[in-house]
Amino acid sequence: MTILRDKPRGIQLSISLNFESSLNRWSGKPSPICYDNEVCEKSLAIEHDGSIYSCDHFVYPEYNLGNIKENPIPGLMSSETQINFGLSKINSLPKYCRECSYLFACNGGCPKNRIIKTPDGEFGLNYLCRGLKKYFSKIDPFMEILADKFKK
Ligand code: SF4
Repeated sequence: MTILRDKPRGIQLSISLNFESSLNRWSGKPSPICYDNEVCEKSLAIEHDGSIYSCDHFVYPEYNLGNIKENPIPGLMSSETQINFGLSKINSLPKYCRECSYLFACNGGCPKNRIIKTPDGEFGLNYLCRGLKKYFSKIDPFMEILADKFKK
């Protein structure tokens, strides 16, 4: 894990990142955490009343899938609503991310963090992008070596 500090627009920013996850991505494998993968996965959130939501970052009425008292979880996980929720992570990527050399490692990050505009004015960029790019550029040479060993 590492912590980078940045000061975009005067705001102190700390980012915690996971080397294991990065190594998986550099090796062409899925990440153990949803943040770095292509689509949002099946990490549902359950509230105290049994309500189930697409993700713990999206506990809002429009992401309510049902209630555990009435709906079996496997059915909710494979529901069209949940599948579309997962795919929207990749479908909503701005062009800036789609053309980024670190897309394979980052996939734009969590959709919850995509709250700023890209340099060319498209909405939907992760506000942690600058820090992410610094992190990826620092670890890249080492990850290349480690990933090569990891694949063997
Ligand atoms: S590093 Fe930045 S530009 Fe590249 S994919 Fe991640 S969020 Fe998008």
